[in-house]
Amino acid sequence: MVAFDAVVIGGGHNGLAAAAYLAKAGLSTIVLERRPVVGGASVTEEVYPGVRFSRLAYSAGLLRPEVIRDLDLPRFGYEAYPFDPQFFLPFPNGDSILFWNDNDRNLKEIARYSKKDAEAYPRYVEFWTEVMELIEAMVLAPPPPLPDLLAMFQGPEAEELAKRILLQSAADLLDEFFESEEVKATLVTATTIGLPAGPKTPGTALMLGHMLLHEINGVKQTFGYAKGGMGGVAFALQRAAEHFGAVVRTSTGVRRILTDAGRVAGVELSDGTRIDARFVLSSVDVKTTFLGMLEPDAVDPAFLARVRAIKASGVVTKVNCVLTELPDFTCRPGRTLQPHHKGYIDICPSVDYLEKAWDDAKWGRPSEAPFLDCVLHSVTDPSLCPPGKFTLSIYSQYFPYRLSEGTWDGRREEAGDAVLETLSEFAPNVRRAVERREVITPLDMEREWGLPEGCIYQTDMTPNQLFSLRPVPGWSGYRMPIEGLYICGSSVHPGGGVTGAPGRNAAMTVLEDAKRGRTIK
Ligand SMILES: Cc1cc2nc3c(=O)[nH]c(=O)nc-3n(C[C@H](O)[C@H](O)[C@H](O)COP(=O)(O)OP(=O)(O)OC[C@H]3O[C@@H](n4cnc5c(N)ncnc54)[C@H](O)[C@@H]3O)c2cc1C
Repeated sequence: MVAFDAVVIGGGHNGLAAAAYLAKAGLSTIVLERRPVVGGASVTEEVYPGVRFSRLAYSAGLLRPEVIRDLDLPRFGYEAYPFDPQFFLPFPNGDSILFWNDNDRNLKEIARYSKKDAEAYPRYVEFWTEVMELIEAMVLAPPPPLPDLLAMFQGPEAEELAKRILLQSAADLLDEFFESEEVKATLVTATTIGLPAGPKTPGTALMLGHMLLHEINGVKQTFGYAKGGMGGVAFALQRAAEHFGAVVRTSTGVRRILTDAGRVAGVELSDGTRIDARFVLSSVDVKTTFLGMLEPDAVDPAFLARVRAIKASGVVTKVNCVLTELPDFTCRPGRTLQPHHKGYIDICPSVDYLEKAWDDAKWGRPSEAPFLDCVLHSVTDPSLCPPGKFTLSIYSQYFPYRLSEGTWDGRREEAGDAVLETLSEFAPNVRRAVERREVITPLDMEREWGLPEGCIYQTDMTPNQLFSLRPVPGWSGYRMPIEGLYICGSSVHPGGGVTGAPGRNAAMTVLEDAKRGRTIK
């Protein structure tokens, strides 16, 4: 019989991070990943001969510096480089905006649109920096209960602050600070990433601050590229886990979590093999873990009902292309490499554009004019594709999992066409420059990566499913109602994004329990 102290289900980056922490602390640990490659949504794969894509996640910066340091990730190959410029937005009137890693330059860029907005921008950044400092302090610990969280808002401006962060829409908050549509469009892009919501939906303001949690090489509020693509993050975590003694097995699916008298006993693999363990950590989403991997009578029905009610709503399609030439933007002409090719290229001309894209999706229709967040990774890392070619990653929304007409298998290429047509309106040469493309719909994300309904964060990161409400009230501390079972992936606090935080936090909880006399075999 095979036995480990801990089994980690799923070799996404959180499963690997959890395993690395456990192995470092001396627990015999095995990671079981169903796919042939580690990384989950943070993956780099050779899709066409000689062409490697970050097939789902596409930008670095959220990985917690504490995780990088604790696991000594640079030693295992982790490297990240900031995008500079960070953002480029072309507008239909032929103008565009560039945001750099240089505040003075950004203020000048904003002032081209509105002097008043340039004056407001430092106040806006200061506001979010203060809020995100509060939130950042909660990222590496189980979240406080909601009433305690609300009690943190003290002082004369407490109500105003709580309103802005928890209740207000992103559009309303931006209106409070800015007047220029272009400036607001630039800042709104992060707001609804992965959410079944538009920028006018109450509660979306919080996500405006989310981008401020990004940090690369000690520089805050910075997005960038991970060496080797997003799979580079996962490979570094795998190497660290193995260095500390963990075993990582790919192409090894888990069929069932085994229980005995109310506590975990181990897992059963898809081929029927049994692996015993005292601790089982699942980085698979909480819905699949409880509704698909455990016998229904092993869990309290009231708890199962709450898990069943958790929302997971896919709204994203990813299109990965091989280009024969760089996009030639009407507003910044040229097919040779220029600064605007080096960071995010966002198609989001206004807040209303983004809201209208969501309007379609609410009723099960793919957006007629979708929001696009593009990155040309190979301009930073030419090893990703053959010389003379370029990789283009396009994250696009809204493409609802639940369609009012047809099926995603029947409409996959239509979605790809809509995405490329939208980009071509700003860079017409894209129409002829696409040599190959893969279109990954919400259904593909569910089938291939196990993301419920294609939800990019495993479960929705709407305010009603955050902090101590994630995954369900009363169970946000990583321990689950079966002794020895923990959730360590993005369906627990602090949620999705390549942060490593849920994996680290869950591992710390296991180590606490292991120390508390719950002896390890
Ligand atoms: C399209 C897209 C774009 C994104 N863009 C970004 C971005 O740019 N930056 C960013 O920081 N975040 C981004 N995210 C979010 C981020 O990628 C995820 O939140 C994060 O990677 C989740 O990591 P995880 O380890 O918690 O879970 P996952 O990556 O979901 O890992 C779970 C693992 O479990 C495996 N598994 C499932 N079932 C079984 C089973 N029965 N047995 C064994 N293994 C199983 C899966 O194959 C998977 O590898 C994006 C996500 C998507 C989908």
